[in-house]
Amino acid sequence: MAHTLGFESYTDLAYLERRRFDYTQQDAANFRRQIKEIVTPAVAAIRERQRQLLGVDKLRYYDEALIFPEGNADPEGTMEELVEKALNMYQEMSPETGEFFEFMVKYHLFDLETRPGKRMGGYMTSFPGYKAPFIFSNFNGTSADVDVLTHEAGHAFQGYLAMRSIPVRMLAGSTSEINEIHSMTMEHFAYPWMESFFGKNCDKYLTAHLIGALAVIPYMCVVDEFQHRMYEKPDMDAHERRRVWREIEKEYMPWRDYDGEPFLEEGGFWMQKQHIFLYPFYYIDYALAQMCAFQYYGRMKTDRPKAWADYLRLCRAGGTRGYFELLEVGDLLNPFRDGAVAASVGHVIEEIKERY
Ligand SMILES: [Zn+2]
Repeated sequence: MAHTLGFESYTDLAYLERRRFDYTQQDAANFRRQIKEIVTPAVAAIRERQRQLLGVDKLRYYDEALIFPEGNADPEGTMEELVEKALNMYQEMSPETGEFFEFMVKYHLFDLETRPGKRMGGYMTSFPGYKAPFIFSNFNGTSADVDVLTHEAGHAFQGYLAMRSIPVRMLAGSTSEINEIHSMTMEHFAYPWMESFFGKNCDKYLTAHLIGALAVIPYMCVVDEFQHRMYEKPDMDAHERRRVWREIEKEYMPWRDYDGEPFLEEGGFWMQKQHIFLYPFYYIDYALAQMCAFQYYGRMKTDRPKAWADYLRLCRAGGTRGYFELLEVGDLLNPFRDGAVAASVGHVIEEIKERY
C-alpha cells in the first residue's frame, strides 16, 4: 500500500492514517526512551516484590496477573447489581455523570453479559441519531467487569456530552491519544466508590488496578517499537521477527520469564497482540493517554474539583482541535515534553510503594 501510494515505508502512511499531525516517529522514540528509563525499573521492582509475596523462586509470565497470593479482588453482585451500583456511583460523582448514566439505564444502552455465540471483547459505540452511546462487553465475574463500567462508561460519558455540545458529528470524538484519556481517567475518578463493588477487598482492587495501569506501559512500548522495526525491514522472515520481538522485550520488560517455553522464548508472544494485525501503530496511544490520566489522578488527590472541571472541558471539546491543543484545553502536560513522563508517573510509583 505504502509503495503504491509513494511512501518510503508503511510507517509513514500509518501515521497519517492515524491522523498523527502533531508528532513524529522520533517523538515516539523519545517517549519510549523515557518509559524505559523511568517506568521499566519501577515495574521491575514491583515484579520483585510480587515474586516475594507469591513465594516463588522466579516470577513466570503466567504469575504476573496474580497480584496477591490469596487471589485478586473480584466484584460482589450480579450483573444487574453491578449496574445498579454504577448508577449510584455516577449519581453521586456529579450532576453530569448522573444524568448520563440514568439515560444509559433508561434506554438499556448496554449488552454486558457473555452468551454462546456472542463476539468477544468490549467497546463503546454510539447511535448519533439518538445522541446515545452504547456499551458492549462480556462480563466474566472478575474486576474487568467493573473496568467496563468505568473505562467504557468513560468513553460513553464523553460521547454523551460531546454529542450534545458539538453539532458536527465527526468532531464529537478525537483521535485515540485523547479518547483514551476520557476512559482511563474515569477509572481513577471512580476509585472512591470501589468499596461498594469490592467490599472488604477494595484496597486490593485499587492496588492491583494501579499496578496494572503502570505495569502495562513498557509492554505497550515493546509493541510500538516492534512495529517500527517490522515496517523498516518488511522482508524479514518469521524467525527474524521473533528474534527482534524478544530483543526489544528484554530491554523494556527484563523481568519477563517464559519458563523455558521454546516458542515464547524465541519471541512468539507478539502474535497474541491483535492490534498489530488489526490496528497498526494504535497501541502507543494507550501509553500516551495513561500519562495524562495519571496527571489527572494526581490532581484528584490534591484538588478534585479542578481535576473534574479540567476533565469535563476536555470531554466537551471532543475532536474540535488537534491533539496538542486539546492537551492545553484539558490543562495537561504534553507527554512528549522532556520530564513529562516523570511528572506523570512519579506519584503513582510512590503510591504503589506505599500500598504494595
Ligand atoms: Zn478505551
